[in-house]
Amino acid sequence: MEQPTYMDPVCGMQVTPESAAAQSDYQGVTYYFCCDADRQEFDRNPENYLTQKQNTLQ
Ligand SMILES: [Zn+2]
Repeated sequence: MEQPTYMDPVCGMQVTPESAAAQSDYQGVTYYFCCDADRQEFDRNPENYLTQKQNTLQ
């Protein structure tokens, strides 16, 4: 069974919902992060990390 993978928008790492250390909802989309520091960085300035990147790989 393949798990969906998501890109950590801050550092670019591929993470799965299970392996992610943190997650954050922004504008109805859930983002996953490899570490809590990246989530805090994202929450501080989300727009900075969302330039034309679709984060859902389905
Ligand atoms: Zn990261």
